Amino acid sequence: MALHLFEAGVYLPILCFIVAAFVNRQAEFRDWELLLWIGAIAMVDLLPVPTEVEESFSLSFPLELAVAILYAAPVASAVALLGSSDTRELHGTVPFTRALFNRAQVGVAVVVESFLFHRAATLSSRWYLLAFAVLVAAIAGYAVNMLLVALHVHFKLDQPLKSVIRQMHSGVFGEFVLSYMGLALFSVLVAFSFKTLGPWAIFVFMAPLAFARQMFQRTHSLQVATQELAVKQAENEYQALHDSLTGLPNRVLFQQKLAEAIENASVVDGGIAVMLMDLDHFKEINDTLGHHFGDMLLTEIGPRLATVLRPGDMMARLGGDEFGILLPDLLEESVAVRIAERLMEELEHPITVEGLALDVSGSVGIAIYPEHSHNAETLLRRADVSMYAAKEAGGGFEVYKRDFDRDSPARLALISHVRPALEHGEFVLYYQPKVRLSDGKVAGAEALIRWQHPELGLVPPDEFIPLVEKTVLLRPLTAFVLEESMRQWREWADRGVRLQVAVNISVRSLLDGQLPDQIAEILNRYDVPPAFLKVELTESFLMADSGRSTGVLDAISDVGVNLSIDDFGTGYSSLSHLKRLPIQEIKIDRSFVMNMLNDANDAMIVRATVELGKNLGLQVVAEGVEDRETWDLLASYGCDEAQGYFFSRPIPADEFWRWLSVRDPNAMHQPSPPDSSGRLRVV
Ligand code: C2E
Ligand code: CA
Ligand code: CA
Repeated sequence: MALHLFEAGVYLPILCFIVAAFVNRQAEFRDWELLLWIGAIAMVDLLPVPTEVEESFSLSFPLELAVAILYAAPVASAVALLGSSDTRELHGTVPFTRALFNRAQVGVAVVVESFLFHRAATLSSRWYLLAFAVLVAAIAGYAVNMLLVALHVHFKLDQPLKSVIRQMHSGVFGEFVLSYMGLALFSVLVAFSFKTLGPWAIFVFMAPLAFARQMFQRTHSLQVATQELAVKQAENEYQALHDSLTGLPNRVLFQQKLAEAIENASVVDGGIAVMLMDLDHFKEINDTLGHHFGDMLLTEIGPRLATVLRPGDMMARLGGDEFGILLPDLLEESVAVRIAERLMEELEHPITVEGLALDVSGSVGIAIYPEHSHNAETLLRRADVSMYAAKEAGGGFEVYKRDFDRDSPARLALISHVRPALEHGEFVLYYQPKVRLSDGKVAGAEALIRWQHPELGLVPPDEFIPLVEKTVLLRPLTAFVLEESMRQWREWADRGVRLQVAVNISVRSLLDGQLPDQIAEILNRYDVPPAFLKVELTESFLMADSGRSTGVLDAISDVGVNLSIDDFGTGYSSLSHLKRLPIQEIKIDRSFVMNMLNDANDAMIVRATVELGKNLGLQVVAEGVEDRETWDLLASYGCDEAQGYFFSRPIPADEFWRWLSVRDPNAMHQPSPPDSSGRLRVV
């Protein structure tokens, strides 16, 4: 509505002005020369150009300015209004009132130009006066033109006028001013030639103008594209470094800042505190009141805690209910302690979420540079064990002490359970089939670990892997998974079935430089061609991009093993980073796949991910396929493989063998090598 009013507010007055001038005989059409001008302007505007840009602009400006120089305001503006055209008018893709507005705003600019020029000079004035008058007229004309267009965008897109104007000029203002002034002076030449050589002289100038228009439009569209790209990139970068829920910096940014802080501190001999905070009983809140509630709580807490920090300090959400706090420029330990105390105080006030007041408490672990370590990773780990110590002690905070490493009761309990469990063979691998969508054939299996606990029964990996990951037991556990899966592969191969087996490797294992050799050794021992082993890594790995882990990844890839990015879509991997990794496959996280049928958004994400993967030359697998409809939909997207309860839950090896013999009897006799082997790089 506002837009239409604005458009009418521009074209109605100018039309009235022109009509009134002619009716009152203040202006007259001088035979056919005006028609020539109109035709020339229209031709420059309508000549075909190779690129189509939205906010196109015209190069008929010097002709219009020449008209403004030659004639009085009403005549000049009538000529400009009738002449200035837009190819989109011919195609009928621009509404009538919009076309009228576009012509009218040129008319308005020409009125201003003509009026100002004739105030200051005539064509027979001295050259400097002439140049001055033309430039003043041109600048004023441009201001009017630009303001009207900017106002139009402002009404149309509801963007602040200031930012519209800034966007219109970003990047190219300098070049623009130069070429605009050049064209303005050019119009004097046009006007002169018209006077001295006769009307037909106009057409001499049309060819260069049409040519210039092509050039301009090309650079213009290029500029628009680059600008969009820059905005997108900035957005991606921001997303990659921030937590989408709370808007706080994420783990990656936290680690970056920590590394920077350490570098600075090492130069100036300063101190740093690293704090980790975990909310107590957050899981219970989540489970009883729902995830939505948990999310709201986290969004409330983040900003509230951030208020106790000093400028320059940083608070990040590291995942789940874990927050990281970085205090660079630490003068002494007591400052960190004071801030931790204030954090605790801040948490003492209940937090209101949707009208419900919740008592939340947290545990904080503190590690100090350089006392507790010089290195970021160790500092984080020490803050982590201090946090667990604080939790054990019933909340509050703890500054790192050496004996936390050894004596943490939880850790002792864990060690005392896992190690014998490994020795007693309480860990087993279950297998879940991966099925090809094109023909329904079994393409491979994923090995998933289970703990057959004598008292607790079958313990799912989510309950112990995250804990084991923080201890030295990760290495023997990973070794077990590799060893056992390849032993199983050999057994199946001896019975005539060679299936690709995927194992999950914790991102932390990638810090273990011996892993590639270990893998090679196991493959060798069981005589497994490397391409039959696939290693799945969670997407979060991509972000924690440390040179060390990428090196290990490359080395694994060099062994000939396939690499897959698990839970794809849950992190924010940047494409540029993905491109650099030696991966062959992405696995779309089951949270998207399971919701595909109910949530158009998730379906769109899955579809786009399939396309993205294909474009990068990657194999795309969907996990969490629970029904036929999802299977069909994935097939229609061109996804390569599917995995999920629809075919089978993860089952023990012997059960898997029976399942396979029923499901795919042919596979029992035809060894089919996987299609990719060796080192492929995504382009
Ligand atoms: P993941 O790698 O994403 O494994 C897939 C998980 O999805 C498995 O849970 C599987 O049982 C489950 N799943 C498969 N199809 C469906 C379905 O159609 N619907 C639903 N709702 N779930 C489905 P699981 O076995 O509990 O494993 C959980 C996670 O534990 C795995 O996630 C993986 O990250 C980790 N994990 C499992 N085994 C190992 C291992 O040997 N080493 C390491 N480091 N991590 C492991
Ligand atoms: Ca997996
Ligand atoms: Ca997964």
